[in-house]
Amino acid sequence: MKKHNFYAGPSILPEFTKEKTAEAILNFAGTELSVMEISHRSKEFVAVMEEARQLIRELLDVPEGYTVLFLQGGASLQFLMAPMNLLKTKAAYLNTGVWASKALKEAKTFVGEVVEVASSKDKNFNYIPKNFVVPADVDFLHYTSNNTIYGTEILKDPEVPVPLVCDMSSDILSRPVDVSKYDLIYAGAQKNLGPSGATVVIVKNAALGKVNRPIPTMLNYQTHIDNDSMFNTPATVPVFGCLQTLRWLKELGGVSAIEKKNKEKAELLYAEIDRNKMFASTVPDPADRSRMNVTFVMNPEYAELEAPFGAFAKARGLLGLAGHRSVGGFRASLYNALPLESVQALVETMKAFEKEN
Ligand SMILES: *Cc1c(COP(=O)(O)O)cnc(C)c1O
Repeated sequence: MKKHNFYAGPSILPEFTKEKTAEAILNFAGTELSVMEISHRSKEFVAVMEEARQLIRELLDVPEGYTVLFLQGGASLQFLMAPMNLLKTKAAYLNTGVWASKALKEAKTFVGEVVEVASSKDKNFNYIPKNFVVPADVDFLHYTSNNTIYGTEILKDPEVPVPLVCDMSSDILSRPVDVSKYDLIYAGAQKNLGPSGATVVIVKNAALGKVNRPIPTMLNYQTHIDNDSMFNTPATVPVFGCLQTLRWLKELGGVSAIEKKNKEKAELLYAEIDRNKMFASTVPDPADRSRMNVTFVMNPEYAELEAPFGAFAKARGLLGLAGHRSVGGFRASLYNALPLESVQALVETMKAFEKEN
């Protein structure tokens, strides 16, 4: 039976990425060695790193004056590297979920003032706060563009008078962004790009070197800029996987093309959730709904059918639909690599379940 992969992360990757990586595990770039067992300093691997960085530049239209890096430690390490490198006196944080809260918590471990400009914690993060005020004297506003757990997304770069810093782990490369508004963008690879183990960082060079605190070598973005992401041994196989996905995305027409597909997939699923009497979205305002992670629950009158629906979907090859424990219900992750047919299969399953019950 065909499997449909709705896992939230690590998550679905293009067939292209899997095939090319499988080939390179056995024979990388004609070397007759595995990509796992060749030096990161070999010309073959250096070419992989350089092309991957270049394709991110190209696909996201990264302006001059920025550097694209592949680091390790996930988005979770960026929660502390960002303020360590960029927080001079005061920073603003928008709190839209668990990941945003974790980023805020790390910022507070540094000398400086950290302002939570708004939070949607009062309603278990089921909306994006609006009309919050960002003090003009902060070094940056940190936000999470897509809240993987709660199914909310900020689809437009916030209009604020300060530089932006953003955790784009779960929606990077799913739509265009105006990188020039950002001092820093970071994303763990395992949602939209490749295997876990690599972290993409896009940093504005001119934003660095302005803090007074000492920064340990490995945690200093400048170290990685100066060493072309090879200060220490990079995550070679994950970076190789990311490169394949980037090539796939470019071939497909880039982020504007994938955005159209992502919109179509999300609209199809939200329409069924809104139509089907058994289900309800966990995000009341359609404007706040994520295109990447669609969270939904059983309507109260059908609450006892939650586990049966989970089993019904699994039996039809729909995998990874369980919601995060802090929200419950279901979560369908519709990342770039998920084909429209998988969303159609989910919608048909929801219809069939409604009929049967
Ligand atoms: C998954 C996720 C993280 C955590 O990433 P790690 O790579 O595990 O540190 C952080 N932020 C967001 C938005 C995520 O989706």
